[in-house]
Amino acid sequence: MTLRVPDLSRYPKAQLRDGPSPIVALPRLSQHLGGAEIYVKREDVDGLGGGGNKLRKLEFLIGEAQAAGADTIITVGGRQSNHARLTAAAAARVGMKCELVLSRLVPIEDDDYVENGNVVLDRLFGALIHDIPGNVSALQVAEERAATLRGEGRKVYVCPLGGSSPVGCLGYVSCALEILDQSTKSGILFDHIVVANGSGGMQAGLVAGAIAAGVSPTKVVGHTVLAPLEKAYATTFEKAQQALDLIDSGLTVSSDDIVLHGDQLGNGYGLPTSSMRRAVTLLASQEGLLLDPVYSGKAFAGLIQSIENGIFGAGQKVLFLMSGGTPSLFAYRTTFESALR
Ligand SMILES: *Cc1c(COP(=O)(O)O)cnc(C)c1O
Repeated sequence: MTLRVPDLSRYPKAQLRDGPSPIVALPRLSQHLGGAEIYVKREDVDGLGGGGNKLRKLEFLIGEAQAAGADTIITVGGRQSNHARLTAAAAARVGMKCELVLSRLVPIEDDDYVENGNVVLDRLFGALIHDIPGNVSALQVAEERAATLRGEGRKVYVCPLGGSSPVGCLGYVSCALEILDQSTKSGILFDHIVVANGSGGMQAGLVAGAIAAGVSPTKVVGHTVLAPLEKAYATTFEKAQQALDLIDSGLTVSSDDIVLHGDQLGNGYGLPTSSMRRAVTLLASQEGLLLDPVYSGKAFAGLIQSIENGIFGAGQKVLFLMSGGTPSLFAYRTTFESALR
């Protein structure tokens, strides 16, 4: 296999992670489900702030912010945003001030959801939280706040939802190259790579990285957990092309390159489903590993469904990206109480 390795070195990067994340086999769970061999890539354990997939994007985003001389970073998200929590941690690490515009996007209002989980950590990392209703544009509030701070002489960098700007997506372009490198070294080739799709940047970056490297992007299978399928597809397609334009203009994404499913979304973003509860409980009890209720739990439920339907059959190897989000388990305490009764 001859790989083309795109050059990302002209994009400044802050180091927030500790090198490649390990890929490990889950033989007990694979045997329990009886189908493809399941592997996980531990994007949830590395770096700082409790870990998670936003760190790869933040390495490029903070790099861009520092290059622009920013002293303050503002980002947006839902009340239990993992991206917001990791932005706060990254800002603490590099000595920038951080403000978070957190929307009440999810109709859950109990104390665990509103004050526990990621919110506890946001405050520990020293971020200032702006609490806004779900029907207001968080990005607009962020831009207004940035204008106010700039008026006071601060240099402000505004980071979009999920850190999924084109530059942020480069984090997952580099992850695609890392997976290819790990496959080459271990001799383990994956038939499918399963991911959660929220703001779309993780899948977009992986697809762009695969195209840039000259391997099949359709191994990447996303499950939307935020936008309805058509919208998630359009967003992911656009971001994959934008990421590709940053690294290797001339290459294009074609419509078949984005493989995305919509049947794990349930009643919407952040709302628990019974298959998510089952996936989280299964991985915890069979392997001692933690999925999260909003993203990876729903995506892993999709993986289980593909095995049970025989789509990921015996003899195949499937890699699941464990993307983090552990703190939000504490925000969903009651969800799992009822799952275990
Ligand atoms: C944000 C997030 C995702 C989804 O990544 P996107 O790039 O937003 O699609 C998946 N898992 C976890 C735990 C996340 O926090």
